[in-house]
Amino acid sequence: MPLDIHLFPCLDDNYGVLIHDPATGATASIDAPDADDVRAALAEKGWTLTHILVTHHHHDHVGGIQELKSETGCKVIGPKGEAQKITGIDETVAEGDTLNFGKADVHVIETPGHTLGHVTYYIPSNAVAFAGDTLFAMGCGRIFEGTPEMMYASLQKLAALPGDTRVYCGHEYTLSNGRFALTIEPENAALKKRMAEVEALRVEHKPTLPTTIAAELATNPFLRAHVPAIQERLKMTGAPAWQVFAEIRERKNRG
Ligand code: ZN
Ligand code: FE
Repeated sequence: MPLDIHLFPCLDDNYGVLIHDPATGATASIDAPDADDVRAALAEKGWTLTHILVTHHHHDHVGGIQELKSETGCKVIGPKGEAQKITGIDETVAEGDTLNFGKADVHVIETPGHTLGHVTYYIPSNAVAFAGDTLFAMGCGRIFEGTPEMMYASLQKLAALPGDTRVYCGHEYTLSNGRFALTIEPENAALKKRMAEVEALRVEHKPTLPTTIAAELATNPFLRAHVPAIQERLKMTGAPAWQVFAEIRERKNRG
């Protein structure tokens, strides 16, 4: 039986995600941006929280942990590299670890760059990944703690997942990411088509997530630093892809 996945807006532009295993009743919150929002989503679905899977230590991802943990006794799992920064962690995980959630195996992929300990949770049996603030639809997280080379390597790990993998991200940044992407690759037909779809969704305040790895490979400039047309536009033909990535990230920061 596949997992049930419930996506809901939190705070200003964050997303909360609940994953529920109907066979066992296990329910995990991916991060805990806000206790009230997560609690309301649980009530709406009639699910009881058993786990919180933390991607990284930023407040808009961990702010609700303590309240939710004290109310439900749920188990809090988070990155080993940030355990000191996340209050309430019960179990730490690192690259290559596998967690049992209900009947599903959750694989841990370290994706440092936005923060040094950031992890992505990947569930191959359900073809789904929870990427926190590493990969966004048509974008990527700001590099607060790591280096561009490190962030590029993290994104490449996600790019290597099967194309049909659904990706849930920590924020609804898709519209502004897409507008920026068009400045890098104005001739990309897949990107133009996707932007039209995204604009229509946002007019109705609908989420643009989840995305897929295949959609990101076709439209996300941060996964396309190797593409000759992009290198040419940036006057970086033949440069290492991570350097092209770094230039794109710089331009986005200035934008
Ligand atoms: Zn963050
Ligand atoms: Fe965030």
